[in-house]
Amino acid sequence: MSNPLEYLKESVRNKKIYTLPDIDYDIKANQNENPYDLPESVKSEILQGIESTDWNRYPRLGSGGLREKIGQSMGLPAGQVMVGNGSNEIILAVMNALLQPGKQLVIAEPTFSLYRHYGEISGARVEAVRLKEDFAFPADEITDKSQQPDTALTVLCSPNNPTGSTIGETELREILNTAPGFVLIDEAYIDFCSQDFCPLLDDYSNLIITRTFSKAFAFALGRFGYGVAAPDLVNEIYKVLMPYNLNGFSEIAAGILLQHRTDMETTINRIVRERERLIGRLSELDSLDVYPSEANFFLIKPEIPSDELYEQLIGEKILIRDVSHYPGLDNYLRISTGTPKENDNMFTAIANILG
Ligand code: PMP
Repeated sequence: MSNPLEYLKESVRNKKIYTLPDIDYDIKANQNENPYDLPESVKSEILQGIESTDWNRYPRLGSGGLREKIGQSMGLPAGQVMVGNGSNEIILAVMNALLQPGKQLVIAEPTFSLYRHYGEISGARVEAVRLKEDFAFPADEITDKSQQPDTALTVLCSPNNPTGSTIGETELREILNTAPGFVLIDEAYIDFCSQDFCPLLDDYSNLIITRTFSKAFAFALGRFGYGVAAPDLVNEIYKVLMPYNLNGFSEIAAGILLQHRTDMETTINRIVRERERLIGRLSELDSLDVYPSEANFFLIKPEIPSDELYEQLIGEKILIRDVSHYPGLDNYLRISTGTPKENDNMFTAIANILG
């Protein structure tokens, strides 16, 4: 009998599935989540909003109300906003709409692994430039590649996961000025730094920005993310997104969370202060290199084999991220910033392991 799996696209069969170890932990520092859960009062408000809505009806087609609210919070019309099941859905939809065999996707590695994953599945050529030794973006090289006529899409992450480095506005403008295709800036970690590229949307119709509520907004469970771009492109992307792609529960929750944006500043500031404190303490250890970051995570490179440190931390029920297989990150690990107590325990555990 023939094997029906042979009908799968080769680009899918060649891929490995995205996995994370499912391990018992006391400290979870492997997914760049917010260590502080939402306040009970906000959860209650969300639950009340959900309870007082009809569950037998579809949400409004096109998530109009929420797109308007997100747009208002950024000074943009609803027609420039796309919402989805995490920012991943928006990134995937953009790739689905733009990438095909014969076209090129430009990325800067090491970066978020899903860009290459989805890019290769689309059949497009994935052209990756390497970040510099200090993880700065090689702007000239990116400009060179993104201005090639085949480059339908350039995807850059700023602050970049997993390095925490950012691209400068001048460099980004240069790329946007010369790229014939689109440039997507993934701003999943934007709330932890002082950058904001949204004003550039006025100048560039080829700019797409994606953001998420999974990190600073402490709403990873709800899977809500959004993208902003020129209205013409947003219309096209909505042809690729499924009707009713955002479920009504997350739509209600996201609308309420937006109103609490200023309350969240306190936790965001706390996380940024803690990041600096933990980086400072770990930097004092001789047997470890620690890298600066503008996100809620940072890289370390121990003198001992990274898998030894990683495994020993798991033995202490501390889960961090093994990024040692990423291009250019041999022997590196990534740590997400936790609460002060978690960070103290993280420091003590690492210091003890490294002697
Ligand atoms: N972009 C980057 C750089 C990320 O690190 C993540 C999550 N790890 C995402 C996008 C996806 O986030 P979500 O789908 O939860 O919005």
